[in-house]
Amino acid sequence: MNIKQSELLQTGFYINGKWQQSNIRYAVTNPANGETITEIASAGESETLAAIEAAKAAFKQWRKKTAKERSLAVRRWGELIMEHQQDLATIMTTEQGKPYAEALGEVSYAASFFEWFAEEGKRIYGDVIPSHRADSRIVVTKEPIGVVGAITPWNFPLAMVTRKAGPALAAGCTMVLKPSEETPLSAMALAVLAEKAGIPAGVFNVVSGDATAIGGALMESKAVRKISFTGSTRVGKLLMRQAADSVKKLSLELGGNAPFIVFDDADIDAAVEGAMASKFRNTGQTCVCVNRFYIQDSVYDAFTSKLAEAVNKLKVASGFEDGATQGPLINAMAADKVESHVTDAVAKGAVVLTGGKRSKLGGNFFEPTVLANTDHEMLIANEETFGPVAACYRFSSEEEVLEMANNTESGLAAYFYARDIGRVWRVAEGLESGIVGINQGIISTEVAPFGGVKESGLGREGSKYGIEDYVEVKYMLMGGI
Ligand code: ADP
Repeated sequence: MNIKQSELLQTGFYINGKWQQSNIRYAVTNPANGETITEIASAGESETLAAIEAAKAAFKQWRKKTAKERSLAVRRWGELIMEHQQDLATIMTTEQGKPYAEALGEVSYAASFFEWFAEEGKRIYGDVIPSHRADSRIVVTKEPIGVVGAITPWNFPLAMVTRKAGPALAAGCTMVLKPSEETPLSAMALAVLAEKAGIPAGVFNVVSGDATAIGGALMESKAVRKISFTGSTRVGKLLMRQAADSVKKLSLELGGNAPFIVFDDADIDAAVEGAMASKFRNTGQTCVCVNRFYIQDSVYDAFTSKLAEAVNKLKVASGFEDGATQGPLINAMAADKVESHVTDAVAKGAVVLTGGKRSKLGGNFFEPTVLANTDHEMLIANEETFGPVAACYRFSSEEEVLEMANNTESGLAAYFYARDIGRVWRVAEGLESGIVGINQGIISTEVAPFGGVKESGLGREGSKYGIEDYVEVKYMLMGGI
């Protein structure tokens, strides 16, 4: 399919229910071949301020709708995503690079947040608290926070948006979204569907372009009461500083440095399967991708050789090619970083079991790689690689591996494979991370709380906890009774 023919392809910004254009434009490129897909209007401060005004005005009406009315609109939005799944997946693979089958998977995952939060929005209950005085009553209600600024990354161009827009809109908030400049087309497509779903003008606005200008306008505005951000720890910290002046609420999903531990009592084949799913999904470009494999001595050789065998079966190709499992990295900088991590590790004594270099396809393609004999002096142990490289470290005891696994400022996801029930509990409780996959390599689902501890972030997304990030508690004391 040629995405240019899709009714979902838009090239402007979406403010107050209208598509607007600008003379300042920038090219959105296809990471598989470097070609320009289309040029889109670039937004800056003034467009962002207009979007905030629209969201502020729309909030007055949107918050007054019944929870059921909002629920129906959000649910319809999710249904429309599924009705347009092929178009959305095509747009996604074209601008982001992930294999088409994975893109289709993300489209369903994205829709699941609308389905889930359309339900949760109807269950934002308050409390009646036994009063401290006989002549009064205490009632607690939950109210939408107000205008939310959402800033999203390129690795999940659709799902990271719906994971924020679903709970925000269901709770009665309105939103100004700044998608990643690498993948704005998926977000714009979502805005087309918002309109079709009957989301009123101004409730959901999208501006893409100059990240610093848009981010600055969102952060400085007093009308924006909350920021929900998914992206790098560096930008997350910047936003946290900027939020101080207007005491904005923050939800931050930042970088990870996920450990994946294989104990000697693990089912090794299951561990390899989990490792493949967790490490190589999206070509290693997810914040919950494994960054460090810790393998107990006695199973080290068995695990690493089986992992290398599985990795050899992956197919590096453009996301539209049949059977493709590893698309390109998002851009040249990302490919350079992966290459520098591998070069540094090899120079310091790592052994390449498979891969280890740029793919013969050229451009942003990198061979899926397994490195043995890695140690903690290497760059790869200390920074998120965000690419298809499995670095394998040895360990001998449970205490030692917990110390190594926790020796990071990040704390998003961690994984381990073991069967001994005592060990399972000790390790699950000992890992400093918001999410723990136990004998499981894929942990993302709309029904569970996703989020990190330490420098990996604040707040949770998905599940019943996810909607709490978009409401304020109001306590009413009713006297004179
Ligand atoms: P990544 O390394 O995943 O690209 P970034 O943190 O750079 O992570 O990007 C995540 C999102 O943050 C993107 O939408 C990007 O445009 C946005 N962003 C980058 N810099 C800023 C900034 N100064 N203010 C607000 N948003 C920003």
